[in-house]
Amino acid sequence: MSILAPFLAVLLVVVLAAYHRWPLSVFAAIAGAALVAAALLGAHLTTTIVLGALLAVIVLPLLVTPVRQALVSSYLLKVYSRMLPQLSDTERTALEAGTVGFEGELFSGMPKWETLLAQPRPQLTAEEQAFLDGPVEEVCRMTNDWETTHVRADLAPEVWEFVKKNRFFGMIIPKEFGGLGFSALAHAKVIEKLASCSSSLSSTVGVPNSLGPGELLLHYGTREQKDHYLPRLADGREIPCFGLTGPTAGSDATSIPDFGIVCEGEWNGARVVGVRLNFDKRYITLAPVATIIGLAFRLYDPDGLLSETKDRGITLALVPRGTPGMDIGRRHFPLNCAFQNGPIHGKDVFLPLSQLIGGEDYIGHGWRMLVECLSVGRAITLPSTSSGASRLGAVVSGAYARIRKQFGLSIGRFEGVEEALARIAGNTYAMTALSQATAAAVDRGEKPAVPSAIAKYHCTELAREVARDAMDIHGGKGVILGPRNYLGRGWQAAPISITVEGANIMTRTLMIFGQGAIRCHPWVLKEMQAAQHPDPAVRLREFDRNLFGHIGFAISNAVRSWVFGLTASGIGKAPGDDYTRRFYRKLNRYSANLALVADTSMLLLGGKLKFKEKLSGRLGDVLSQLYIASAMLKRYEDEGRPATEQPLLAYAFHDSVFKIEKALSGALRNFPIRPAAWLLWALVFPWGRRAQEPSDRLGHRAAALLMSPCDARDRLGAGVFLTPCANNPAGRINSYLPKVILAEPVERKFLKALKNSDIEALTFPEQLTEGVNEGWITADERVQLEELRALTWDAISVDDFDSSELEAASLHRHAGAAGMIRAA
Ligand SMILES: Cc1cc2nc3c(=O)[nH]c(=O)nc-3n(C[C@H](O)[C@H](O)[C@H](O)COP(=O)(O)OP(=O)(O)OC[C@H]3O[C@@H](n4cnc5c(N)ncnc54)[C@H](O)[C@@H]3O)c2cc1C
Repeated sequence: MSILAPFLAVLLVVVLAAYHRWPLSVFAAIAGAALVAAALLGAHLTTTIVLGALLAVIVLPLLVTPVRQALVSSYLLKVYSRMLPQLSDTERTALEAGTVGFEGELFSGMPKWETLLAQPRPQLTAEEQAFLDGPVEEVCRMTNDWETTHVRADLAPEVWEFVKKNRFFGMIIPKEFGGLGFSALAHAKVIEKLASCSSSLSSTVGVPNSLGPGELLLHYGTREQKDHYLPRLADGREIPCFGLTGPTAGSDATSIPDFGIVCEGEWNGARVVGVRLNFDKRYITLAPVATIIGLAFRLYDPDGLLSETKDRGITLALVPRGTPGMDIGRRHFPLNCAFQNGPIHGKDVFLPLSQLIGGEDYIGHGWRMLVECLSVGRAITLPSTSSGASRLGAVVSGAYARIRKQFGLSIGRFEGVEEALARIAGNTYAMTALSQATAAAVDRGEKPAVPSAIAKYHCTELAREVARDAMDIHGGKGVILGPRNYLGRGWQAAPISITVEGANIMTRTLMIFGQGAIRCHPWVLKEMQAAQHPDPAVRLREFDRNLFGHIGFAISNAVRSWVFGLTASGIGKAPGDDYTRRFYRKLNRYSANLALVADTSMLLLGGKLKFKEKLSGRLGDVLSQLYIASAMLKRYEDEGRPATEQPLLAYAFHDSVFKIEKALSGALRNFPIRPAAWLLWALVFPWGRRAQEPSDRLGHRAAALLMSPCDARDRLGAGVFLTPCANNPAGRINSYLPKVILAEPVERKFLKALKNSDIEALTFPEQLTEGVNEGWITADERVQLEELRALTWDAISVDDFDSSELEAASLHRHAGAAGMIRAA
């Protein structure tokens, strides 16, 4: 034992130092003291002295910077420079775009929760709330989604007029330019409510407020461009669209073949230097009705009219609709959604240089401009569209599952339906927290490149799951289209959100982790920058500093992973209350796991990691779930830790944790370098994979919340269009819930009398009469049952049409589309 004692003392100090991230000098001092103490307490002296000497030989040179640089860092710098993956300009731009917020903490292996919890609670101003309660509510009441999608294939003219007049297209445009100047949170809440009413409406309003001429001009426009266009965009005199995608350039957007040649041409009767454009774009939202078209193309200057460089790179311009050579106005028809979308073609379209966004100064910066703006736009439009549709889906599915009865019971009481309801509740809780978190990040001035990719991917994927479960719960009611169907169009539209603004497969496998690992990692980007520094002395100094920071970080994450794994995340400093503290501790563990596995992957796979999309996709899932779980905990704190919300938080949290472990175990089981995988497995899962999906009991509690009016349910459905009116069947069904619940005891009594043949009449009115006459129910209860029957009937009814009506709608559309169908 006395021989082992010095080893155990040093091991303990190593674990403590790594766990707490003590500097090397502190570790050396404490390890030395531990060895002295061990010797004094009777440890084997020779062993203690040899071990101390060995430690001194290893540690002391590392404490002297010049020695460390000469012996270790200079050699490793050479190796590192050879391994450094070659980044394309596109990748470099993507990596440099945006800022790093709390997601950086999640990559640290030791998140500073106080940073997250100190962020202010997101709140709307009185003016923003008034806009939501006023014009937004009104436009929802005006919009008839069936008519929009089936009859007109467009918003009604009065809806177009209303949104323009009330400056819905100018939410992100500051007041000084005539816009509404809303916060990102308000912008998100408006889109949420519109999406709960009509996906065609929310897309139409979402696009001008997202990536497009408005946002680009705000950031990069010349003063003249801002003064001219922004007020016109804000009040709808100009309808914008933005054309990047073409038939050959989809996900690989930088490969656009569209080009502009610098030359002289005619503009407003004068001869000026400008750009002659040829382009072929497709899928462009609002293009058929746009009056001003933002366009991305590659600019060439073969005659050197502007500079010596011939290929000037991706550049952005604004093309007025009537410009000669432009062919615009035809439509695509995306999955029965009626927002305007179509191709644009241009042949020898001439524009003066003043139409380039930002003027000559921004020639060649187009890709950076787009990527920077995308990090903001993606944080809001699609996440809030998804959360709005899902909030509505959650609340109405709960009401429907209570109102709709089969086998004498509300269908929501059957465990199969309850499972689907619980998933809806958990997914909606997670997605609304995530959507709110990214909007809040934008309001704090961040350009959340990585969180916006997380939010875009997960909100749209979760919304598709919610739509699927809601459809299943509604059965035929969800399938039969018509004015009474509030789910079918949303279900159809779900893949659109999945595809746009970076299709989801690529967003998951390339962007979330690819960008996240380098941007959010505390050392990697710094190391890369240091290794490329032109001054050799600075290069070595900076590389050395970052390298040793990184090594300490890696050792710490390995130790923390192992300690947290051994203790089942049962220890460690964590905020929260008695209910949530264990949740924070679990996230501490997975944060260390992510950092450890990510570091090892980058070290062992280097540039090849970029092509290992299955691995990077899984590590992206870990980062995403950590971010989503943090957003949920923040939401719980912001709402004052409501006990009634705990089943939702717990369900969604356990689901996240289960997904984290699934992703981590998938990454390790398939890790290409097996010995490394075995070691990582021992550190990450010392007792094996333990996390379970949310329990049935928890699912029961979460589902129950959707089926009865309560605070938690109100908060989950907050802000969506639930006004019970003629064109809002979902709102009507939701409003029936309290009355239906009140009538349930009477209904049970009545059904029992029927079952026991105490009431024998065959029709409902006769049964009621018999029930009253024979004292099974009172006269008041009869009225209650009649009302229940009427409400239920409205809730479960579907539409039917005369064949001629369906033909008429389709003919109406075909007449408008006649001759327009051609392959894009
Ligand atoms: C309704 C609608 C509206 C749109 N609005 C606009 C608009 O206003 N302006 C505009 O410019 N564009 C717009 N788009 C285009 C949209 O951004 C593209 O559809 C999207 O970029 C995907 O391109 P693609 O459809 O050509 O698919 P592809 O690029 O062919 O991709 C097909 C699949 O392959 C995957 N994939 C591709 N490369 C990789 C990779 N390296 N790793 C992993 N997976 C990969 C993708 O994720 C996708 O799942 C719109 C599209 C639609 C459908």
